[in-house]
Amino acid sequence: MNIQEKINALPCSVFQKKWIENWIGQSQVELKLSRDRKTKLGDYRHWPKKGLDQISVNANLEPDFFFFTLTHEIAHYFCRKKYGQSIKPHGVEWKACFGQMIVESISAYSLEKRPQLLVYSLSPTATLGGSKITTELFLKKTDHVYLEEIAFGESFRLGTRNFLKVEKRKLRYLCKDKDKNKMYLVGKNALVEKIEYDR
Ligand SMILES: [Zn+2]
Repeated sequence: MNIQEKINALPCSVFQKKWIENWIGQSQVELKLSRDRKTKLGDYRHWPKKGLDQISVNANLEPDFFFFTLTHEIAHYFCRKKYGQSIKPHGVEWKACFGQMIVESISAYSLEKRPQLLVYSLSPTATLGGSKITTELFLKKTDHVYLEEIAFGESFRLGTRNFLKVEKRKLRYLCKDKDKNKMYLVGKNALVEKIEYDR
């Protein structure tokens, strides 16, 4: 597949593809879709001897998130070409480049994400969790926490069931299944989802 065909096959919108084409359509960058990696969303690699540049992004991301991650990686490629390899990966050069790319391609994002992305573009972060904005925009709304961290009287979800944390019993907590109206003992280190009503 040549780069044009690869761009066409990416899991993002027509408008987003136009920007990607604009940025790397004439380059020799090798674009790769990856399976869902737990530790990273994408990466950029350069092999000086082979003169090879490769960008990979996890294929399972939703279009805006995919496009955002790919833009992050293309910014690494642009910085490597312009400044060489002595600069910091997420230093001032990369921040400026990525920020500018977000601004110019802002109309390719869904309308509701644009205001926050424009704020983010002023100071992009190396990691998704490093910014409140990207955490809010792209990470799942539900938070997994340990049952221990839930307050008494607070609701939480465990699997598909809704519970209320009632009281402590040694290393476990007495919790009420809200649908069955029955009590259960749940370990303090159980990973549960916080149910947030006011978001
Ligand atoms: Zn990066």
